[in-house]
Amino acid sequence: MTTTGSWNLTLLLSLFPEQVTRRIFSQRCPSSNDIIDFCRWRWSPQFSISEAYSKILEEEWDAHSNDWHVIWSLLVSQRIRVFIWLALRQKLMTNMERHRQGLTENPSCTHCDSVESIDHILRGCLYARNVWSLIFGANQITITFFTDDMKSWLLTNLRSNASLPYSMVPWNTLFATICWHIWKARNEIVFTSTCQTSASLIHHSLTWAKHFAKSVDPPTLHSQPTSPVSTLQWRTPPQHWSITDAFTAELWAILDGLNLAWQLGLEFIQVQTYCSKAVSEITSRDAYRNPLALIRSIHALGQRVWVVEFIRIPHGANQVADRMTKLNSFSQFDMVLFTNPPAQVQDLLAKDVDSLTN
Ligand SMILES: [Zn+2]
Repeated sequence: MTTTGSWNLTLLLSLFPEQVTRRIFSQRCPSSNDIIDFCRWRWSPQFSISEAYSKILEEEWDAHSNDWHVIWSLLVSQRIRVFIWLALRQKLMTNMERHRQGLTENPSCTHCDSVESIDHILRGCLYARNVWSLIFGANQITITFFTDDMKSWLLTNLRSNASLPYSMVPWNTLFATICWHIWKARNEIVFTSTCQTSASLIHHSLTWAKHFAKSVDPPTLHSQPTSPVSTLQWRTPPQHWSITDAFTAELWAILDGLNLAWQLGLEFIQVQTYCSKAVSEITSRDAYRNPLALIRSIHALGQRVWVVEFIRIPHGANQVADRMTKLNSFSQFDMVLFTNPPAQVQDLLAKDVDSLTN
């Protein structure tokens, strides 16, 4: 203890592992009025083997625990739920775990010399501390945020759906998303030696969390009624084409477009379509078991690690797309990819740019 009667953190850290220091630090400092120290069995005054055995069994995996329900009902992607589940079960491949399994000689964190446990990555390391301090504001963060044992820390935060004043996102959604991004940043530094700044990590987490929070009700644009495009008409397809309905054609277009965007490494995609049926089927809760394989494939693509949203736009709102369909230059089965917009749509593109800048 220090001369002022508080814990001597530096000394404690030099004597005990960080995890133990944190447990000590979360306790009140002893004072001269306290009772004399004595050994005590945690659960009852008297120790017994049979009680110890039953306590060990109690702490075993309980598939019906309400804790898991907290995780699986989180408003985040399934990938993040799985990540949180693994974190809670201490099953992530940290350096500490790799060291324990004999896969590395060094159990240390990449940022500092501490042992790299999952708790250290998510909140003990200075890197994580910076992120949380930025989120809360350095003065508003409570000491228990860093001292609670990890399981209660995760569960308490995952149960809280209040939102921070500036984020408008349920806290548990944002919290889980930040944890996941801290883990991703850790992997990035290990595998590519690139370090994301705390500010950029928070920016990404907020964007994703907002997306997750919003995705309960799929967004739709409030469409202004527009006059139908009179020049649109159905034409017979080239001889060897399979004739399909507009709905299926639209689904193919969405699927191909998403695959292309994925290959290009895009992170934030907004799919705009005239087809409200496509939007409602793709964004439905049951999309993963939709009888149409196309819907299932699009849904599965949307579940990858990126942000994809689907909105309906009014007919004729995308005149460039309309004109592209009439170019009549598609005689193959294959998708045709333009690296530059064709000359025939340049004027329409210019008009779109004009309307955005004015
Ligand atoms: Zn560290």
